[in-house]
Amino acid sequence: LIQLYIPLNFMGTVYREIKQATLDIAQMFSLIGRDPEIQDKPGALPLAVPAGEVAFEDVHFAYVPERPILRGVSFKVLPGQTIAIVGPSGAGKSTISRLLFRFYEPQAGRILIDGQPIADVQQVSLRAAIGMVPQDTVLFNDTIEYNILYGRPEASMEEVAEAARLAQIDRFIRTLPEGYATSVGERGLKLSGGEKQRVAIARTILKGPPVLVLDEATSALDSFTEKEIQDALDRVSEGRTTLVIAHRLSTVVNADEIIVLDRGQIVERGHHRDLLAADGVYAAMWNRQREVDEAKATLQRATEAE
Ligand code: ADP
Ligand code: MG
Repeated sequence: LIQLYIPLNFMGTVYREIKQATLDIAQMFSLIGRDPEIQDKPGALPLAVPAGEVAFEDVHFAYVPERPILRGVSFKVLPGQTIAIVGPSGAGKSTISRLLFRFYEPQAGRILIDGQPIADVQQVSLRAAIGMVPQDTVLFNDTIEYNILYGRPEASMEEVAEAARLAQIDRFIRTLPEGYATSVGERGLKLSGGEKQRVAIARTILKGPPVLVLDEATSALDSFTEKEIQDALDRVSEGRTTLVIAHRLSTVVNADEIIVLDRGQIVERGHHRDLLAADGVYAAMWNRQREVDEAKATLQRATEAE
């Protein structure tokens, strides 16, 4: 009986490991969402990214035919520039990042990187060129080192530590008894949202992609963490073409262009000060945001005074 029991128990453990790993990947893709049908065209060439210009040309997209999500979206991000995409929930902001990764295909219009339609290039090369810092990072059930190294598996430990330093997470890691060997994820140390995001930023810094997509967290971070994450994001976006789905005023103020998306259409675009002066949708959004921030600050002062 014992002889039979041990292998079964062992199989059970292995099965659970595999299931857990599968779950991680499934979880990552469910966050992103994708159409499994998309394949490389015969003879597709690798994407070449000498500069890193990203262009959307009159892009139309619907997940289901009866519900258009993007209705004629056009914009261009010049090499090294940062574009901020803002707008109400459900406007289609994250859909833009999914299309850029070619997880879905537009029904009309084109998306180009350095003049090459992304539909014509090898998907592997496209995804290698784009770094993604998602809104909610899911970490692998493995060590912190593994989670950062995933960005470029052949990197050295020095490079991992340097990426962590730039992402403002190295000091935290070094306070842990096991340091970089600390297990994280569902079965390891539970990291806060801000810590997880900084691990993801370190991973992206290590990957060093010419094009970057950041989906800022909407959830409230404390102002100390927010500043650290902002600094880390500024570092990672330096010299890279960056698309930010922005929720923070500090991000949009410094963006080269802000695009205001509403129900799948660009309703306003320009610099922060121009959009404020225009006193339209954007100005209303940020005035409301400022009121919320001020109310929070007042509340915090009142709590501290107690
Ligand atoms: P945002 O990021 O601006 O909040 P999204 O781009 O995530 O908005 O979503 C835009 C719209 O598309 C939403 O109404 C959302 O419910 C819908 N949507 C998102 N993903 C899918 C999907 N996989 N299938 C069908 N509809 C989806
Ligand atoms: Mg979104």
